[in-house]
Amino acid sequence: MVRELGHYIDGHRVEGTSGRWGEVYDPCTGEVQARLALAAGEEVQRAIAGAEKAQPEWAAMNPQRRGRILLRFVELVNRNMDELAELLASEHGKTLPDARGDIQRGIEVVEFAAGAPHLLKGEFSDDAGAGIDVHSLRQPLGVVAGITPFNFPAMIPLWKSAPALAAGNAFILKPSERDPSVPLRLAELYSEAGVPDGVFNVVNGDKEAVDLLLEDPRVKAIGFVGSTPIAQYIYATAAAHGKRAQCFGGAKNHMVILPDADLEMAADALIGAGYGSAGERCMAVSVAVPVGRETADALVAKLEERVKALRVGHSLDKESDFGPVVAASAKERIEGYIQSGVDQGATLLADGRGLTVEGYENGFWVGPTLFDNVTKDMSIYRDEIFGPVLSVVRAGDYEEALRLCSEHEFGNGVAIFTRDGDAARDFASRVQVGMVGINVPIPVPIAYYTFGGWKASGFGDLNQHGADAFRFYTKTKTVTTRWPSGIRQGASFIMPEGS
Ligand code: NAD
Repeated sequence: MVRELGHYIDGHRVEGTSGRWGEVYDPCTGEVQARLALAAGEEVQRAIAGAEKAQPEWAAMNPQRRGRILLRFVELVNRNMDELAELLASEHGKTLPDARGDIQRGIEVVEFAAGAPHLLKGEFSDDAGAGIDVHSLRQPLGVVAGITPFNFPAMIPLWKSAPALAAGNAFILKPSERDPSVPLRLAELYSEAGVPDGVFNVVNGDKEAVDLLLEDPRVKAIGFVGSTPIAQYIYATAAAHGKRAQCFGGAKNHMVILPDADLEMAADALIGAGYGSAGERCMAVSVAVPVGRETADALVAKLEERVKALRVGHSLDKESDFGPVVAASAKERIEGYIQSGVDQGATLLADGRGLTVEGYENGFWVGPTLFDNVTKDMSIYRDEIFGPVLSVVRAGDYEEALRLCSEHEFGNGVAIFTRDGDAARDFASRVQVGMVGINVPIPVPIAYYTFGGWKASGFGDLNQHGADAFRFYTKTKTVTTRWPSGIRQGASFIMPEGS
């Protein structure tokens, strides 16, 4: 029996009314496990109207109380962790421990956002002029929306929603059509924790729902995470409608391995960061850049050995290192890239095509794939593949490796493995990428720092989580005060000056 999934509006699950449906697959079996209602005007209008009605009272609640509600929500998420992780794994295909990690990295941002009273403090200047004080306020924007990708169905909705809610906004989430069940459960848990009806809503859908959110003047800001072409579209369209927008896009993350690196450690790091979650992470390492021939030969030998030992299997199987990719179309795209790598002259050392897993022959399987001798002009190097494909691009020296990372179209994450502190420091300072790891392959910043890529990986001027999230979800008001008892100057017709 195929389940039907709708929306979460005004504190309740509601059925779809548009008559348009999407399909939610189990990537391990290749079978449809649910029908998803795709929202049209009616649901989107209801969600926006409900959010607009509920927001002022939520904003009027003191931030400490909002923070307490968020902490209760964290408790509920933790209490329901097993159920949420299984639900997440069953629609996404990632393994259970990885699904827990997805939820955990989201929780950390909720915990951070619960510190709203501190983060919303304004500034104050005493005696800025004769008898004049100046202070600033951070006020919520009103109704804001988040549009999120399939690959972190818990973490990214939480990164978007928790700071927005903590700052006193009402939130409308439009999650990915591929794995909508966890966002719907999170909505129920927000309500159970005490978030008032209408303050957090989930509208499921596709471009039609997104465009309605982009065009509606009642929605004041859009937070987007997904592929680069859509990020660009959302950024431009939101701006054209006068909205604040932060839009994070695709990636091609390099890891440089210097000759003095611990190669065992580097190889282990590459295997985890390249193939974990089937390479479907925006911070996955997809390009290894060993410096010098000896380093490259030794590293490639270690990678080949480790790739052979990887186990691809059902997401609930404890022995699986990674599960299937999310969709048949993703499998087809990844396999197409593997063929293009072969056609364009890269050396295919491990071929993930044609893999099947016993008992789950129709699952969307792609095995670990390893290419050596990849060059800058090949499409497997230029494009984001978003699958378990690792390319080795050999660099002659450090400067060439640094240039490769800096000149790539994407600039999300990058890593360097070395024992040389001076080289690492130089690399971190000069590389043109937003998040850098030194002997850390996936440098996703902790919740109280900000997350964001450069170049084609991010559009907008503020990052996600950390202090930037509170800047993004609030507008600043500056108040200049003089009380009647202050010094009287009579009417003045010149522009007031600070001095
Ligand atoms: P996607 O761009 O296909 O979809 C993202 C969201 O946009 C979904 O909610 C989807 O419904 C919506 N959407 C899709 N097409 C649209 C259209 N034409 N108009 C309006 N809305 C549309 O991305 P995805 O496949 O779900 O996720 C994978 C991508 O996300 C990868 O490129 C990955 O690198 C990127 N990603 C980036 C980050 C980051 O922080 N930079 C984090 C996670 C994922």
